[in-house]
Amino acid sequence: MALVMNGGTSYINEIKRLKEEKNAIILAHYYQTGDIQDIADNVGDSLALAQKAASNDADIILFAGVKFMAETAKILSPEKKVLLPDMAAGCSLSDSCNPADFEKFIKDNPGRTVITYVNTSAEVKALSDIICTSSNAVKIIESLPEGEKIIFAPDRNLGNYIINQTGRDMLVWNGTCHVHEEFSLEAIIKLKKQYPDAKTIVHPECELPVRMVADFIGSTSALLSFIKKDNGEIYIVATEPGIIHQMVKARPEKKYIPVPPRDSTCACSECNFMKLITVKKIYECLLNEKPEIILDKNIIERARKPIVRMLEISEKAGL
Ligand code: SF4
Repeated sequence: MALVMNGGTSYINEIKRLKEEKNAIILAHYYQTGDIQDIADNVGDSLALAQKAASNDADIILFAGVKFMAETAKILSPEKKVLLPDMAAGCSLSDSCNPADFEKFIKDNPGRTVITYVNTSAEVKALSDIICTSSNAVKIIESLPEGEKIIFAPDRNLGNYIINQTGRDMLVWNGTCHVHEEFSLEAIIKLKKQYPDAKTIVHPECELPVRMVADFIGSTSALLSFIKKDNGEIYIVATEPGIIHQMVKARPEKKYIPVPPRDSTCACSECNFMKLITVKKIYECLLNEKPEIILDKNIIERARKPIVRMLEISEKAGL
């Protein structure tokens, strides 16, 4: 149901009007709530949204996602105004990689190509050689010559998954996402017993025991593509449950079971940072054109190169 403002106009109608009036677009991540996904101009994972942020004709980009995503949009389109409806929408994974500590880690391990996941601050990106997302991480590592030594940050689970896939020499930073760490093998086994015909689909940020029981491992967009093409009928979904909104839209006849968190008394399998964004905050943000992402010019220049390399490699790989 649309939220209604004083006077009977809905926030959604006002957002549509403001978007047109200000030549703005809304980019929303799959982990946003369904109502936000439905008002967005583009919904996607980090790679798709970065690609969109790099090529659009809007004057304003409103990011319905978390801060590192909005920063990536600003780095790719510095001439545009980039808005984030709530500056507290951070990321535990990004926070696990402090720029000063990371710089020291790079200095202590010279001669390695630095690949960082997009879930990092602009300062950490500026220290990197190539950025990746969970959609293109394996392809990006494989694009490097065999034998090239690599530093990978910040997600240790994704890093170990990539080592497993590619066999490359990688030093992996010890960071994690609090959401994907919430999924336990025990909870999945319980669901598998309850739904013996279900296929288990898992994000690579999940821990190894969870990945080991997966029928399919992939980024959010890969999980979505998988359920579209696969002939299964029931799926146990081990990633942030926001993606299920798009799964239901794509294949409504199928059943999707989100894996509950270890602590069944909390909603911690949902990303509390992503869920800080609301329709009302989007409306206020578009109306007032703030909060706005402001980045140092030098950081933009340095962080842009590794992001552009990622986009170029992804394009070559057909991603
Ligand atoms: S789901 Fe995890 S990695 Fe994604 S934004 Fe939330 S905390 Fe960060």
